[in-house]
This record gives sequence, C-alpha cells and structure tokens, in this order.
Amino acid sequence: TTILGIESSCDDTGAALVRVCADGRGEILSNVVSSQTELHRDFGGVVPEIAARAHVEKLDLSVEKAMSDAGLAPQDLAAIAVTAGPGLIGGLMAGVSFAKALAVAWDVPILGINHLAGHALTPRLTDAVSFPYLMLLVSGGHCQFLRVEGPTRFTRLGGTIDDAPGEAFDKIAKALALPQPGGPQVEAGARDGQATIPLPRPLLDRAGCDMSFSGLKTAVLRARDAALVDGALPRTVRADLCASFQAAVADILARKSQAALDMAGDVTAFAVAGGVAANGAIRAALSDLAQARNLPFVAPPLALCTDNAAMIAWAGIERFRLGQSDGPDLGARPRWPLDQDAAPMLGSGK
Ligand code: ATP
Ligand code: FE
Repeated sequence: TTILGIESSCDDTGAALVRVCADGRGEILSNVVSSQTELHRDFGGVVPEIAARAHVEKLDLSVEKAMSDAGLAPQDLAAIAVTAGPGLIGGLMAGVSFAKALAVAWDVPILGINHLAGHALTPRLTDAVSFPYLMLLVSGGHCQFLRVEGPTRFTRLGGTIDDAPGEAFDKIAKALALPQPGGPQVEAGARDGQATIPLPRPLLDRAGCDMSFSGLKTAVLRARDAALVDGALPRTVRADLCASFQAAVADILARKSQAALDMAGDVTAFAVAGGVAANGAIRAALSDLAQARNLPFVAPPLALCTDNAAMIAWAGIERFRLGQSDGPDLGARPRWPLDQDAAPMLGSGK
C-alpha cells in the first residue's frame, strides 16, 4: 500500500510518498518540504494570505517532485491523504481542493487527515509502536499530552493553558537579540551558561498535567532588564538566562510528563514529537524519565518531528487500513480538536 500525503496547514508545503513495510512500519519513498520561512521573515510571523498563495504555487511542483523522487506513477497509489485541519484556512483549502482534484483525475480515494493526528502517529511510522502510548506533542504552536489509542482515537490528558514552549523559546531569543527560529539559538547559548538564575515553574504544585509557560517568559524578560549594564546585556548573563530558561522548560515538561504517565495508565511507550523535541536537554530529561519507568522512549528524527507530509501519508495509511476514506464533501476544518473523532469529515468548516 502506497499513499501520497499532502500538507499545507501552516507555512510549509509538503508532499510525500509512504508505503507499509512487512514489519508494520512505514517506508518513506520521498518527502518534499518547501519552507516559506523566508517569505514571512520580514513580517515577524506567518501572514495567512501570503502563505495561501505560496501553497497554491508550490503544491503541484511538490507533488510532481515527490512522485519523481520515488519513481512512481499515479496508478501505483492506493489513495491520497491531505491535511484537512487544524490550521490556516487558506492553506488548508488550497491543499484540500488540490488533493480532491488530483483524486478525481487519478481515480483514487481521498482521506482528510487531522494535522495533529499526523504528529501523534509518527512513532508508528518510524518505530512500529503499538497502541496505546503516551505522546507529548511540543512545538511552536502546540503543547499537549495525548493518550494515543487508535488511528483516530486520542484522549487529551492536559496541555498548556497559555503559550507553547516553542513560541516561548522564540520570544526569549528575540528578547536576547538572537536570530529566529529561537529554539536552536537558545540551546546553543545555554551551552556557555549555567542555570543559576531563579525562574518560576508555574502549576507544578497543581494536580494533573496542565502547564503554563507565559509567566516563565515574563520572568526571563524581567531578569534581563535587571541585568542590563548601560543598556547592554553582558554576554555571561545572556548565556545564563538561556541555560536557566531551558532548564525550567525541561523541568516543567519532565514533571508534568510524570503526572501524564500516572494519568495514562497502561501504555506501551512514551513518545515525543514537535520541533521542541529537538532540544537535547529536554530530550534527555524525558528519556531519563521513561527509562526510570521501564518504558521505551520514542523520539522521531527531527525532520519527522516538524511539519512534513510523510506523517500525513502515514496517518492516511492508518485510516486506509481500517477501510476508511472520505467523500467529495471533504472540507477544510481550521479548528479541529483531536479528541473529537479524528476520522469523519462532514461538510466544510463545520
Ligand atoms: P505547529 O507544528 O505546532 O503548528 P510549528 O510549525 O511552529 O508549530 P514545529 O515546526 O514543530 O512547530 O517546531 C518549531 C518550533 O520548535 C519553534 O518554535 C522552534 O523555536 C522550536 N525548536 C526548534 N529547535 C529547538 C531546540 N533545539 N530547542 C528548543 N526549541 C526548538
Ligand atoms: Fe505541526
């Protein structure tokens, strides 16, 4: 079974071909990602109109490249899977209508995929992890604990009540005059510093696994202002701020992962996904925790942790194997919480 995946929910246009191996994992035959970071750089954020237009321009070239990289023809495909939500409405509509046209032209079924389900199912693509497992999805826009019970069955156990950690990393980097994206910059800065600056760890004393990062961010800004010398931040303080912030995030994520594992009951593994999972200190803290509980720790390679179409193709394979597909009424759903049924796609935008 080989499926074409298409992703256009944010600022990356992706197309990928994935097939099922004998051992149950997926084999990625091609994985094309075309990033719009440059287009949005001067605006300090993703501009929805620019993103939608860029997706329209890049979708067919990306699919063409994915097909030729894999050396496949349309008749080799079992189905097309496309991100139908959540995300920016313009990009989603561009992707969904493109995929629908392609499905008609190539005479294959179509599957509308929840982008978060794509992230959450990636450990099964790379490591054949079996259900149920605990997933920490931690990125620029998301931070939540999910009990993954089936291809379309997810229970959200908790998550951030304000900022996502990736967003906080990016804002801290900006405040410390480091380039974007901020995560890798702050991690590099932290290597030269020590986590000696006291920072709050909100919600740790509260039951459950909800988290908060905005107070932490404010505390870093306050510590920065207090340390300015003639309007400039001494290099060593900057490094210590990076180290202290990173340590606080790792601490919060690890402590709340413990709570989430307690809530999750029987699980086969602890998995992470999302760009922030690339952080070495955070990865180490989470991996230690899993090891202490005798649970396999699964962290997909970075290219599969951030937005990509291979995870969408894989989520399509998971649903296709259950005999599911969507009809011509498949529509974009800019808001689509995962713990509602992640399968049926009725009407557009409802
Ligand atoms: P989403 O996929 O949730 O819509 P997104 O596209 O912003 O959001 P990703 O592409 O998964 O998310 O991840 C990007 C985020 O990960 C950025 O905020 C970036 O700063 C952060 N990040 C990347 N590398 C690191 C790192 N080494 N340490 C900490 N954060 C990192
Ligand atoms: Fe994403």
